[in-house]
Amino acid sequence: MDKAANLQPHYVRVHPRDNVAILVNEGGLPAGTTFDCGLVLVDAVPEAHKVALTDVSPGEPIVRYGAVIGYAEAPIAKGTWVHEGVMRLPDPPDLNCLPISTAVPEPLPPLEGYTFEGFVNEDGSVGTRNILGISTTVQCVAATVNYAVKRIKAELLPRYPHVDDVIAINHSYGCGVAIDAPGAEIPIRTLRNLSLNPNLGGAPLVVSLGCEKLEMSRLMPSGTFPMLESKPYVVRLQDEQHHGFESMVDAILQMAEERLAVLNERRRVTRPAADLVVGLQCGGSDAFSGVTANPALGYAADLLVRAGATVMFSEVTEVRDAIDLLTARAVDAKVAQELIDQMDWYDKYLSLGGMDRSANPTPGNKKGGLTNIVEKALGSTAKAGTSVLAGVFGPGERVTKKGLIFAATPASDFVCGTLQLAAGMNVHVFTTGRGTPYGLAMAPVIKVATRTPLAKRWPDLIDVDAGVIATGDATISEVGEEIFKLILEVASGRKKTWTDHWGLHNEFVLFNPSPIT
Ligand code: CA
Repeated sequence: MDKAANLQPHYVRVHPRDNVAILVNEGGLPAGTTFDCGLVLVDAVPEAHKVALTDVSPGEPIVRYGAVIGYAEAPIAKGTWVHEGVMRLPDPPDLNCLPISTAVPEPLPPLEGYTFEGFVNEDGSVGTRNILGISTTVQCVAATVNYAVKRIKAELLPRYPHVDDVIAINHSYGCGVAIDAPGAEIPIRTLRNLSLNPNLGGAPLVVSLGCEKLEMSRLMPSGTFPMLESKPYVVRLQDEQHHGFESMVDAILQMAEERLAVLNERRRVTRPAADLVVGLQCGGSDAFSGVTANPALGYAADLLVRAGATVMFSEVTEVRDAIDLLTARAVDAKVAQELIDQMDWYDKYLSLGGMDRSANPTPGNKKGGLTNIVEKALGSTAKAGTSVLAGVFGPGERVTKKGLIFAATPASDFVCGTLQLAAGMNVHVFTTGRGTPYGLAMAPVIKVATRTPLAKRWPDLIDVDAGVIATGDATISEVGEEIFKLILEVASGRKKTWTDHWGLHNEFVLFNPSPIT
């Protein structure tokens, strides 16, 4: 029986100060519907959209999550549908007058005894997968590398059963770009750090063309991979030793086989949960993201932090409007300032395109009840849990700290996922309200639905149903525990996510804020 469809008229109010609430009933409710509390709907209100709990006069704030998400543009009567057309976006918090470390949370009690089975790398990082990664310096070689990977999978991989996969790190960078322009360091370090992802065994194989702007000395300066200093790990297609296409492919296959033999000797060992680097993201959000999936993920994030792990949240435009809540939680003034600097850089980046953060919500977000970026941001930051903000890293930088980290990225699912992989992510948790089949080849992606109807409609794509929180069938902490335990199972290779089951692996997408020539 579908509980949401058969529910009595039901809404969710998150904070006692809220003057709007979210409608839970599947398919919405018609005008005239009466709730147990006596509230009568003046309009038909769609599922997951907002209803006014009080009369709101023009200019008065509309409050959700206890925070102002907009101002009434016209009189809003109790029981009416509160949508984009009746409210105005508030100004974003001023970056020059933010609270700095004014509400630093007490450290959460340590959580001992939680482990997973992982692959230990020479640099101390720990993989949840044992994958051969083939890096590329330039897009010119992408089709050749794809051809080689197809042959490696068919001819070589079956002989190395302890290697999980072979993937090409293809991209659209490397030449025809202003390689010395401000911002160019972002795609370059992203490519370098993708090669260092713990799930690739700490040693890449690289395919280069030979005449591209992104030379090996710039992509991987000496010392990047100490274990590879003594042996060749680059195939350069223009080298004179290659006579024709097959010679190039043979060279890639030969080097791949050497690496496969080394990777095949590795075995999983028991490691503390502290070795996890978990990236959090949301995509296709709806008004329930901030009520069910994100708070449950926030609970799981707190458990991970207590167990000593690294937990990253990202997506600058989705935290910009809640930035005052985060600077207050920063461990010290330096970390708060680093967070402000990332916001400031992104404000300027958006203004170059004549845009601001209001460009973020998608038509689907709005259909799902999210009116504007402020409402989206308040719901989005719920997945960061309640612990102290321990560090801030720029886009594509490798994260070197434990605890809750802000790793700055755009909100685009693919760009964020790629940058989190570069940051060192070995497990990804992704919340979705509208639904997306998004997946990554380099790290497992656990998908959490905000609503039960989505989890039921996509039973073979969604790993966790957080919608049971809205219907009252489970608590935030119960779903949070479920996510935490699933992370350990998936990290250990004992459970497969649905995206890995189907092999749904989206392309890497670099963040390149610098010009193309
Ligand atoms: Ca996203």
